[in-house]
Amino acid sequence: MMNYAVNTKYIDIINEFRGLIDFINYKDVLIEKMFQIIDKHFNFAAAGIFFNSPDNLEVNSLELFTENISLNINNLEQKFFSSMEKYKQILKHKTNLHILKRDSKNIILNNELILPFMFDEKLIGGICIFSDKDILKDEIEVFNFIINEFLSIFKLKYIYSEQVFKSSIDGLTGLYNRHQFDISLNHEFNRSQRYKTPFSLAMIDIDHFKNINDTLGHQFGDFVLKEISQIIQQAFRKTDIVYRYGGEEIAILMPETDSEHAFLPLERLRQKISSHDFGGENVTVSIGVAGYKNNNSASEILKSADNMLYKAKNSGRNKVVANQ
Ligand code: GH3
Ligand code: MG
Ligand code: MG
Repeated sequence: MMNYAVNTKYIDIINEFRGLIDFINYKDVLIEKMFQIIDKHFNFAAAGIFFNSPDNLEVNSLELFTENISLNINNLEQKFFSSMEKYKQILKHKTNLHILKRDSKNIILNNELILPFMFDEKLIGGICIFSDKDILKDEIEVFNFIINEFLSIFKLKYIYSEQVFKSSIDGLTGLYNRHQFDISLNHEFNRSQRYKTPFSLAMIDIDHFKNINDTLGHQFGDFVLKEISQIIQQAFRKTDIVYRYGGEEIAILMPETDSEHAFLPLERLRQKISSHDFGGENVTVSIGVAGYKNNNSASEILKSADNMLYKAKNSGRNKVVANQ
């Protein structure tokens, strides 16, 4: 015999989750609403939601909700991310704290639930619940039902993020594309203006690339472009992001770096490329670099880097020129 009361309960849960789908691309709202579901079905002193991003560039953030500000938040963050580390190498993480109500009573967290969510053997996110009481408000079947619904939401969110990520990548080189460059340059510029921190923009252009295509074929040209993209990506820090700006032009945004400090690694890169064996051929690049110096706009920095590149080309190519 079917239990009618239990059935309506499941239908209510399905409806709660169905309502989340409209917010799949509004992360903050989605997290808030997911938390409301956790609040309804679980006992907690602190509860966290984490969406893994497909690109490995973002700082991994745990959204932690708590009523109890006396908890050791760093400890909870460490516990959570060391659990997640089993499934993915996590480079940087932080916790965004959402305080629900100020209440500083000292409690001991006897119970914890840390759940990773996997899809296609990839970590797509996780939730955690820490409590001094029994975590479940309901029986285990309802719990499993809720977790499966959560998993669906995490999958949808991950697939959506993956699509956004793919649309920012250049197909040939695997570098970020021009569209993403424009967004990031403005972002870096605004950040430098606001916090008075330096950043540098390097523009790299392959020398006589038309000649390479004309004499060795377009396919060989593509191979050179891919190879150079890889060399650049491997040569720079994770925080320096590499973009395909246009045809055979590659840009690097180097946060927290002035043009003086950008020069050395770029010079090393130039040497590395000029001594690299491209299927028996030699290829060189010219590089222009400009640093943020109280400029009025992002396009001014771009123009300055372009001018430096022009100078590098005009002074014989296979050179780095910086506007120090
Ligand atoms: P310079 O040293 O002054 O930079 O000379 P260059 O020949 O590199 O410059 P130019 O701008 O005259 O030519 C750029 C060439 O890059 C022309 C174009 O066909 C080639 N190119 C652009 N995108 C691609 C690509 O995706 N694949 C290949 N194989 N070639 C490309
Ligand atoms: Mg060019
Ligand atoms: Mg060129």
